[in-house]
Amino acid sequence: MKYKNPKYRKRRNTFPLEVSCGNCKKPMVIYEKGGKGNLVKMQVPRIIESDVNLEGYEGHLLCSNCKEELARKGTYNENITYWIIRGKVNTKRLTNYF
Ligand SMILES: [Zn+2]
Repeated sequence: MKYKNPKYRKRRNTFPLEVSCGNCKKPMVIYEKGGKGNLVKMQVPRIIESDVNLEGYEGHLLCSNCKEELARKGTYNENITYWIIRGKVNTKRLTNYF
């Protein structure tokens, strides 16, 4: 992907998750996921890389290819966070990523 996130901080007991557009399948974000369960939100410090430059990115997260709205911008624990719109993304756990 084009952009490494300079705000990314590695954490323990996590794994990389590829988040792609549910409409056109374009990979948009590699996210460091912790715990079990579905992806609900993406906190910016845990985004490893992304297809759009999140520095200064305005508004909700759109697919860079088909412009589908994938997540809504908000906050969580004072971090900028993209809240996944249910059913709009596909996720895939990556092995051998690091
Ligand atoms: Zn798309």
